[in-house]
Amino acid sequence: MGLLSNIAAAAQRVVASPGEYVYFGEAFLNPEFLRNPDGRCMHNDNFVVIGLGTFGSTVATELANFGNKVIGIDINEGPVSRLADKLTQAVMADARDEEALREAGAGSCDVAVIAIGEELEANIICTMNIKMLGVPCIWVKAVNKTHHRILSKIGADRVVEPEQEVGRHVAQKLHNPLIRDYLSLGNGFHIIDIRVPESVGGERLGPLLADSEGKVRCLGVMRATEYLAGPFEEVMLAEDDKLLLLGERQNLRNFSDTFR
Ligand code: ATP
Repeated sequence: MGLLSNIAAAAQRVVASPGEYVYFGEAFLNPEFLRNPDGRCMHNDNFVVIGLGTFGSTVATELANFGNKVIGIDINEGPVSRLADKLTQAVMADARDEEALREAGAGSCDVAVIAIGEELEANIICTMNIKMLGVPCIWVKAVNKTHHRILSKIGADRVVEPEQEVGRHVAQKLHNPLIRDYLSLGNGFHIIDIRVPESVGGERLGPLLADSEGKVRCLGVMRATEYLAGPFEEVMLAEDDKLLLLGERQNLRNFSDTFR
């Protein structure tokens, strides 16, 4: 914790304001990444995943199942031998050791996913090592907001907080089970995928959208396997239709609350 609190103090001094980070897809991204959305982190097939706990091993095996080359690295033998035949290569190494990471081939990967959780010191040092090795895109798992900011400051392209993200999704679905999924676009804007309940079946979509004074827009309507083409205002809703709606969080909440 000594190292972490020192880095935290330094980061607090450097970080100008929380506005410097943009909320997107449940993660704070550094603005440089948002300016280059098509540059790094796209169309890669060489990955290194460091820390093969539940999160890391899931990311690694799924990436490998998609046909990517994946190197998995962990300090312990157990996870390495469990994944040996599922990944391109599984290596036992300490992520705090830059040379060991280089020898494992991490430096020649397009993307690194650092999934060490509890060991904050190892997580941060590993991020710096991976940066030093010149990996162009670095995703790191964080355990809290301070950790999140530190990682952004030392060069992580994307920081994820899996437990918090899943927690928000679960709460959202419990609050309104009609909302099947949602995507945060940043700046408070979201897209939600919502199921039409029996109570509004037979109503025209236009007047419902008009109640939101244009603050909620419909991007698509699915009826079973059929995509209903616009104009969406004319669509007569049927129970179990799926609507894709765009708007700010509160406006979407107001709209979806009328669906309950
Ligand atoms: P999860 O919830 O994904 O299971 P976690 O957040 O509990 O993980 P840990 O279990 O602390 O995180 O770490 C994940 C993995 O990282 C473990 O398999 C652990 O052995 C590995 N790990 C920890 N320190 C290092 C290190 N210095 N170098 C490489 N791997 C490490």
